Formats: sequence, structure tokens, C-alpha cells
Amino acid sequence: MLKPDIKLIQKYNQPGPRYTSYPTALSFTEEIDKEALLADSKNETGPLSLYFHIPFCESLCWFCGCTTVITTDHDRSNAYLDLLEKEVKLFQPFLHPDRKAVQLHFGGGTPNFLEPDLIRRLGRIIHDHFDFEPDSELSVELDPRRLTGDHIKAFAEMGVNRASFGVQDVNPVVQKAIHRIQPTELNLQAIEWLRDEGFQSINLDLIYGLPHQSVESFSDTLDEVISYDPDRFAVFSYAHVPSIKPAQKILARSILPPAETKLEILTMLTEKLTSNGYVYVGMDHFAKEDDELTLAQRNKTLQRNFQGYSTKADAEICGFGMSSVSQTSHVYRQNYKTVDIYSESLAEDRLPVQRGYILSPEDLTRREVIMKLMCHLSLNFEEVSQKLNIDFTQKFSRELAALRAMEEDELVEITSENLSITELGRLFIRNVAMHFDAYLQEKETRFSRTI
Ligand code: SF4
Repeated sequence: MLKPDIKLIQKYNQPGPRYTSYPTALSFTEEIDKEALLADSKNETGPLSLYFHIPFCESLCWFCGCTTVITTDHDRSNAYLDLLEKEVKLFQPFLHPDRKAVQLHFGGGTPNFLEPDLIRRLGRIIHDHFDFEPDSELSVELDPRRLTGDHIKAFAEMGVNRASFGVQDVNPVVQKAIHRIQPTELNLQAIEWLRDEGFQSINLDLIYGLPHQSVESFSDTLDEVISYDPDRFAVFSYAHVPSIKPAQKILARSILPPAETKLEILTMLTEKLTSNGYVYVGMDHFAKEDDELTLAQRNKTLQRNFQGYSTKADAEICGFGMSSVSQTSHVYRQNYKTVDIYSESLAEDRLPVQRGYILSPEDLTRREVIMKLMCHLSLNFEEVSQKLNIDFTQKFSRELAALRAMEEDELVEITSENLSITELGRLFIRNVAMHFDAYLQEKETRFSRTI
């Protein structure tokens, strides 16, 4: 990877979306007909991608940006599964019975906050209500600090075959500063259990930009985690947004590495991972040559959604649990973000949809362009014009003209046929996509910085 000049970082390091949806969740509104949001599922005919949000964590990691419920009261799990079961049942009339799932993901929070017997109960709820295609991807996010071999067995019994867990950084000083002590033995034990149960893909999450990190310390972290031999890494830039996540105030800015150090870490980690057999896929993700994520990017079937990158194109995302987001081809809808209100809604036999968004034809066009850039790092004007029934260069002449500044900085290349992001420009992929976002200006201060 080419090393960008710090002046480029200063120029482009501005608040911006990660584009797991377009428009972003800030455009979702409560002033919308909830029935219309739900009814859209009845019009869909494609496969399903199921998401279950398990919000509980025993303690808060201070960098965390997820929607969580911090508790050590494990009795809450059973009551929460009652709610999930009710939500699944209430949603059934919106789905044609012939539709099958191709994907299932458990996120959180901490899905293994559930005890193994409750994981088995959740598996029964899901399999009683959904049929799966034989080659489905079933995945779970795990926390090695609360994990036993029986948790993994319980997930494996329901067909889960891919797992992801956060390591963030193995350095004890960094771990103490972020309130997440996770000794190496726990990581190794988790991987051993997963491999023993035949999990096909293991992803590790790392974060750079955390307190006390330096290029040297993060290089040591990488040496260790590469030796675990996972199939994928997701390496995120720490998103410091204390106005939205107050716990992040603890990670005082004074101990966070400056932008220059983050840039050096990013350059180092990209070189280290790519020279150790991992391909740089999209934004933040690295995967082995033969991993389905790498193949999906090569075949141009990679998708982006609320869970990051996905290999399953055109599946309707059905989210269950508090705060979960669902996505049909024209609609986003999101559940209530607290367990209390989520549960009140279900007690009244109402699906717990709090807010949503119906995409206009203009939104659909811009979403296609933004997601193509985020996934494939390039777009062919003729191809997009045909697919969207537009004249791309005419419709987006203003955006293309504005992108000339990024071309001068060697971040994109624009020819008469293509817009492509250069190797150097990958770091600024969000900035490129932002040119096509019609809603950005009034909301930009709510986003994390792009670098
Ligand atoms: S375990 Fe995960 S979801 Fe829970 S607080 Fe830590 S980072 Fe957030």
C-alpha cells in the first residue's frame, strides 16, 4: 500500500458515514406508516438473511459503539427469548411460506451471554419457523471471555458454521485502558474449540486508534494474531463519538494516538496482513485468497449491509431483537432500541418497529452507486447506466466534476468509461462515496471521522 501524505489525511479526515445503508440510519424516521414498512416484505420473493440481536454483555468495553444492555443477570435471557419467539411468530404472516433462508447471523451484545441450553432453545425457535438452503452461512459473534466449549457445541448443533470474535489488541496496557482484559489463552482456546467443532470460517476483529497503541505495539499484536491463523480479519479504525457513546469519554483524547500514528499503523497493518496471505477486501476487511469474501469481491457479488460485507446478494434482511435493522429492496426498518419498549410493543401483539425509511427511485440509484464503490472500488459508467436506466455521466456530472480534486490527489481515476479508486484512495473510500450522498450536509457532525 502506498503511504499517503499526512496533508491528505488532514484534508480528508472529516466526519462521514460507513455506508452500511443508504440513506444512513440518520434518515430513518418515526413519522412513517409502519404497516407500509412491514407490508413491503410481502412483495419480496427472494431468499432471507436472518439477524438476531442478543444485546446483553456482562461488562462494557469503553470503546464500544454497539447497542448493548450491560448486566450480570442471566435470568433476563429466557425472558428475552420469549420476546424473540413472539416477534418471529408475529412476522410469519409477512413472509411467503416457500421462502428460504440463506444466511443467519447472531450479533450483539454477546450472543454467548445466553447459556448453552438457551442457545439450543433459540435454535429450535429459528428452525421451527424458517427453512434453510443447504449451503447457508450461519454465523455468530462470540466473546472468548465468557465462552465454554458447550456454547460452541450448542451453536454448532443448530448449524452455525462461521464465527467472529473481538480481540481488538493483545497488549495488556491497551486492554486495561479499554476495560477489556482478554488473555491470549482465551483466544487460543476459543479457536481450538471452533476448529474442533468444524467451523469453516473464523474472523477476528481488531481495532487501531485505541489508547496507548503505537506502530510497534500494534505490530506485535498482529504477529500474535496472525499466528492464530484465522480466515479473516476485520480491522476497524476506532470511531471516537463520545457525544453518542458517553462511555467513550473515558478514553480521553490525550491518550488516543494522533492521526499521523493511526496512518502509520494502517500502512503497517495493510503491508503485514497482505504479505502474510490476506487479501485486502473492501473497507477494513482482510481475508485469505480462497475465502468466500475474497471470491465475492473478485466475482463482484460482494454486498454491503448493516453487518458489514456480505456474500449473499439480494437477500431480504429480517432483523429480530431490540434495535435490529431489517432491509427489503425498498425499505429499511428498525426495532425499538430499549428492551422495555421493544417488550411493551410485543406484549400488545405489535411488531416492535420504531422507525424506518422507504427509498425513492433517486435513493435507489444513489444507493447502487455508493454500494458499488464500497464493494468493488470501481464502477463502469455503461454498466451502471444500463442497470439503472440512466445516463450516468450526465446525471452525475456535478459529482464527477467534484471528484476531480480527488483525482488530482491520485485517490481516484476517472476515464470516459470508469471511475475507480486507486490503491492509495482505498483509505478514502468513504470520502469518494460521500460525493454521491444527497443527504450528507445537515447530518455530518453525527458521524465518526473517515480515517
Ligand atoms: S463485548 Fe462487544 S458488544 Fe459487549 S461491550 Fe464489549 S465490545 Fe461492546
